[in-house]
Amino acid sequence: MSNSTGGSHFTATRLWRTDGWQADAALEVDAEGRLHASKADAGESIGQWVLPGMPNLHSHAFQRAMAGLAERKGRSDDSFWSWRETMYAFAAAIGPDELKAIAAQLYVEMLKAGYTHVCEFHYLHHQPDGTPYAQPEAMSLALIEAAREAGIGLTLLPVLYISGGFDGRALSPRQRRFGHDVEGYLRLLDTLRRHEGDDLRIGIALHSLRAVPEQAMREVLASDIAKTCPIHIHIAEQVGEVQDCLATRGARPVEWLFAHADVDARWCLVHATHLTEAECGQLARSGAVAGLCPTTEANLGDGLFPLADYQDAGGALGIGSDSHISISPVEELRWLEYGQRLQTRHRNIAARHEGDSVGETLWRAALRGGAQASGLPIGDLREGARADLIVLDDTSPLLMARDERSLLDSFLFAGNTPLVRDVMAGGRWQVRAFQHRDEQRIAERYRATVAALASR
Ligand code: ZN
Repeated sequence: MSNSTGGSHFTATRLWRTDGWQADAALEVDAEGRLHASKADAGESIGQWVLPGMPNLHSHAFQRAMAGLAERKGRSDDSFWSWRETMYAFAAAIGPDELKAIAAQLYVEMLKAGYTHVCEFHYLHHQPDGTPYAQPEAMSLALIEAAREAGIGLTLLPVLYISGGFDGRALSPRQRRFGHDVEGYLRLLDTLRRHEGDDLRIGIALHSLRAVPEQAMREVLASDIAKTCPIHIHIAEQVGEVQDCLATRGARPVEWLFAHADVDARWCLVHATHLTEAECGQLARSGAVAGLCPTTEANLGDGLFPLADYQDAGGALGIGSDSHISISPVEELRWLEYGQRLQTRHRNIAARHEGDSVGETLWRAALRGGAQASGLPIGDLREGARADLIVLDDTSPLLMARDERSLLDSFLFAGNTPLVRDVMAGGRWQVRAFQHRDEQRIAERYRATVAALASR
């Protein structure tokens, strides 16, 4: 309980807590945007169904502007690797102003969908030819500014990207703007940490095992910042990547990582799609988060994560919208479940015990894992937490005659009408009645930016 006064008070008919729904919850948001239990019962009533906002644990913001541009048949072997060529060509035209415009639009869309925090896996560091900007962190700052404009919490994960393959080859011309040596990378982290606060955390991202040689990984993990900050890595997304790792390092990616790094709760293994049974158990026991991006993984034809085995082993997971062909925690969680149903020809896979709800199981797991991967105390409407919450549209026909037992299943599995009506992030209403407070200006700038990019 807080004895703070002067904040804004409100009540919720049903408030989702980690252990279930609380009836008639009275809350206060203080001047710093943190939540406290309130003794006042006269606050504004904000709605019938109030949930913690969802953290989005994996994003490459610039890719939002190319969603839909790689869906036409090319060579017969269209795959992740052919998609990557389209993505590289597009990325080459993006500088700080373009990145800020695209990211702000993306973050507005995320908030409207119910994401209140995003982990940005950021590798467009330098000018297109690889020369650093006059201010070397200019692209990172563009993302920080975009997040603050939109009002979404941010874990910024500057990416270390050194080589163009497992054989240690140099970066290709199109990859040069991604590159750092270890010293320059740690300097970038240091500079960015000065901006940290309740709404911003800086963490480490190793692009992938193929892009970070072993020695460089050791040096970064031995740094002071690595002891406490979130550490994200792309791992085992593609079968080709698993085969290359086996051929050059004599082990599969997850297997190799566990043999060469202390993987623990600081870590988020993004995709982790291709796991053996032993790797699945090892990842679950480590306390690390499996970062799953079901709509992107489906779009790229990556494969399916072994969800049931992983949950049975007690593994932590969260969701990300990654390439942004979809921006909806509902769709990510729905496809996480549906992929498993299609593969096993059974229903209700994520719910592991009789009577458990799929919707509740997935929403709870993704809140917890997403918060852990963000490195901030979010994802839970507890005392002192950042006030990140969403209010569902209780007048929607889709939610008629729903109760505490069926609400989350209906939210996730009852169709495509947007049900997120109001969104508070950092203690401020960013979305009310389905409208973001600054969406017109941000959308206008985005349209002008994308039109200019397309005409280059
Ligand atoms: Zn990614």
